[in-house]
Amino acid sequence: KKPLLEVQNLKQHFPIKGGILGRTVNHVKAVDDVSFTIFEGETLSIVGESGCGKSTTGRAILRLDEPTSGSVFFEGKDLLAMSKSQMRSMRKDLQVIFQDPFASLNPRQSVAQILGEALAIQNIVPANQRRERIIELLSHVGLRPDQIDRFPHEFSGGQRQRIGIARALAMQPKLIICDEAVSALDVSIQAQVLNLLKSLQKEFKLTYLFISHDLGVVRHISDRVMVMYLGKVVEIADKKSLFDSPQHPYTQALLSAIPVPDVSKKQERIILRGDVPSPINPPQGCRFHTRCPLAVERCKTEVPALTNVHSTHQVACHLVP
Ligand code: SF4
Ligand code: MG
Repeated sequence: KKPLLEVQNLKQHFPIKGGILGRTVNHVKAVDDVSFTIFEGETLSIVGESGCGKSTTGRAILRLDEPTSGSVFFEGKDLLAMSKSQMRSMRKDLQVIFQDPFASLNPRQSVAQILGEALAIQNIVPANQRRERIIELLSHVGLRPDQIDRFPHEFSGGQRQRIGIARALAMQPKLIICDEAVSALDVSIQAQVLNLLKSLQKEFKLTYLFISHDLGVVRHISDRVMVMYLGKVVEIADKKSLFDSPQHPYTQALLSAIPVPDVSKKQERIILRGDVPSPINPPQGCRFHTRCPLAVERCKTEVPALTNVHSTHQVACHLVP
């Protein structure tokens, strides 16, 4: 397997201004020293509760917000070291699909205009062949040719997300970051859009970074899963290992909260005490120690490193392996 994207020691610390001089008084450590690799053709999911840093990681990779430090190698080139204009030319390779396609689709533009604009930026298809190409894109995402001159409000939520997917496809990307891409949709529509993403992945050899708080969705779409808590990676594994034998106490708690398809495998729900602490002054040592049912003394002072359980499974916990 060839790495497509390698994230190294990524940090995103947002300054908090205060006082009458508006000086930086503190930082929100939204993403704190995160490293991982995405291989060509796979789907890596990032899961965790809201505020864990999963969306921030996606945005930092694309430099939608400039990260504080770290490296993001895409096909061996460091995106974070690029000039703004070099980065712009990379953008067609790295597309993003957000939760709410309505917010990202101009209501005054028809589908033909929305996709036409993307094709104009990408600039491979000659202007006189663009309409034909748009119809082709629509068919790839399960929309009809006669819908080409319609406007976003004439579509359902699921159809609008298909337009968003078509717009991303128009750029012929290598990597698509899906940030809660199906979270706003009804469950039955979610499955359709997930299946569409899967079939497009095969057809166009796409790689996905799939960001979601929903473990059911993640189980459906992923090859590998990375779990984040308070700006840190706590566990990363192939899907089967993660769902069959989660090692980190936080992952175990998350998984215990989703219904099991097999009723004979009854599991006990692990209830975590307290709330997620503030990312402004996160707990010392293991960030999870204030809520961890298994915490021991050293957890309060020593940061657990991400270590191998086996070659496709890493965990950051003093008690593992
Ligand atoms: Fe819990 Fe300690 Fe493991 Fe952190 S390192 S998850 S506090 S046992
Ligand atoms: Mg988010």
